[in-house]
Parts: sequence; structure tokens; C-alpha cells
Amino acid sequence: MTRLHDLPRPGDPAVREPVGASAASPTPGELALSPTIGVLGVQGDVSEHVAALERAGARAVWVTRPADLAGIDGLVLPGGESTTLRRLLDYEGLLEAIRRRGEEGMPVFGTCAGAILLATEVVDTPVPHLSLVPMTVSRNAYGRQRESFVAELEVAGLEGAPLRAVFIRAPVIERVGEGVEVLAREAGEVVLAETDRALVATFHPELTTDGRLHRHFVEKVRASRAAKRSG
Ligand code: GLN
Repeated sequence: MTRLHDLPRPGDPAVREPVGASAASPTPGELALSPTIGVLGVQGDVSEHVAALERAGARAVWVTRPADLAGIDGLVLPGGESTTLRRLLDYEGLLEAIRRRGEEGMPVFGTCAGAILLATEVVDTPVPHLSLVPMTVSRNAYGRQRESFVAELEVAGLEGAPLRAVFIRAPVIERVGEGVEVLAREAGEVVLAETDRALVATFHPELTTDGRLHRHFVEKVRASRAAKRSG
């Protein structure tokens, strides 16, 4: 069994991108076309997401105040602790501002607690948070035995080897609503899903060196930007 502290961390000099992954830095031309993606920077694995987005060819910026949303084409909501994140979002006036951008169609990628923030229904929580993705999530739904674990996922539409996924006090997606496509399950539970504008993972893709999910999100953001320009 792989233990969490054995996993390579992004930024570790000994860590190389897997063979076949594009490890090269984006060229100036690519950079000019790069979307700008915000990472909600109030709690959690913010710098890991920033690094992963940059490796995936995006410009990445921290979002800590509503004004930071103005220049971004997409937003990542990292893991952490959803009740704390919610309090900080309220405190900074970010909850309504993010919801408004999300309702206008800005792509969002929620990982672990970030996915909880995006759900329209959270078990045992009377009022959901951002309510942007039609799904029901249950917090801390894996028992003590499986509080944190690593799994290899078969992901629909993802080429190459199975995706290594790190779960840390993860939620479970109990139900997905209309327009939500399930991309991966682990032991029968939905762990990765998407809509045309959102990607949700109950695990932490920023804690491995496999950049495929971040690249997929960057592509989603590019597509939405292109659609907006031509529309
Ligand atoms: N258990 C946390 C919550 O309920 C989520 C854990 C995580 O993001 N790693 O918010």
C-alpha cells in the first residue's frame, strides 16, 4: 500500500513528470493564448494548484478578494475544510461574487472541500454553499479505516495509465443531477464528475505529479473562452 507521506510532492526536485506527459514549459506564443485561472487562496493547497495550472499551460493567480475575480477565465477551489472555507468566503465577501461568476458560466474546478462548496446539496448541512453543480455530497463519508488513502482510478476519456488519486477525509458524491457526467468511481462511489462548465473531484489531484486533470480543466477554460469570443 502506498502511504501518503511516500508520495512525491510537486516541486520536489527528484520528481519528474511521467514519460509521455508534456513537461516542457509553454512557449511565449502559447503563453499569450493562456487562460488566466484563479485559485481560491483563503485556505488549503493553494500553491500546489497554482504550480499544477502553470505546468498545464495556464497563468495562475491567487483569489483572496472579490476584485481578484475580475481578470480570471476560470477558478479552482482547493481542498481544505469546507466549514472554514465557507466562513472565510463569507468574511471576504467572496461567496456571492463567485456564485455570480459561476452562474454567468465561468468554469470551476472543485477538489475535495472545493467540491463540497460547489454542490447544490450537502448532507446534514441545511443550506448549501455556492450551489453551482447539481449533486449531493456527504462530508467525511469514508469511515476511520479509510480516512486517507490512495487509489488508482480508471477515468472515462482520459488516455494513458490509471490516475493516481489521493483521498484525505474525502466526501462522497451520493447523487449527481442532470447534466453531470460521472468520469470515475472508486469502490462504487462517484469520485470525479463534470458538466460542460465544472469539474469536481473528491480527491487531491494537486498532490501528485500527474497533470492530466489540470490540463483537462485548462482545456475546458480555453473552450469556454473561445465560445464567449465567438458568441
Ligand atoms: N473533510 C473536509 C470537509 O468536510 C474535506 C477534506 C479535504 O478537502 N481534504 O470539508
